[in-house]
Amino acid sequence: MAKVALPLYPQLGTQHPAARPQHAARALKYRVLWDASIDGRLCREGLLGTRARAVRLLEWARAFPMLREETPAAFAPWFDGPRPTHAAIVAFIQEPLGPGTADEARCPLCRLPTCVLERGPAGLDRDVRRAIERDHPGWRPEQGRCARCAEVYEAFQ
Ligand SMILES: [Zn+2]
Repeated sequence: MAKVALPLYPQLGTQHPAARPQHAARALKYRVLWDASIDGRLCREGLLGTRARAVRLLEWARAFPMLREETPAAFAPWFDGPRPTHAAIVAFIQEPLGPGTADEARCPLCRLPTCVLERGPAGLDRDVRRAIERDHPGWRPEQGRCARCAEVYEAFQ
């Protein structure tokens, strides 16, 4: 009997974005969006309790800190709306969102606006630095990294 391999994420083909460590920060945001959408649909089917919305909103706020007070409004269409396309998710996580201003600093790693860029080698673990340099050739600690990227790289060590 022939075995048929079904991709876990048919809209993505066989490669989940988290399989590419160089896109760790974006993969995390992708997961947060996708999980919010799944839980929203499960809630509407009565398969998840109402607490799921608060849990996903909190997770969302941590993944997209640049949205600040816009967070609930930005979160709602993903949790309350229909299943998003892969393209819509990718567009959302690549576009800087929220009330950013033109002169606001952007993280050189994830390209998202950030209020605080940690700059320089101080506090940067050697293995984390190597991992960032591997994924972003030419990057120097002086260029900075946002707290979220630092967290993601530390988590992937
Ligand atoms: Zn970043």
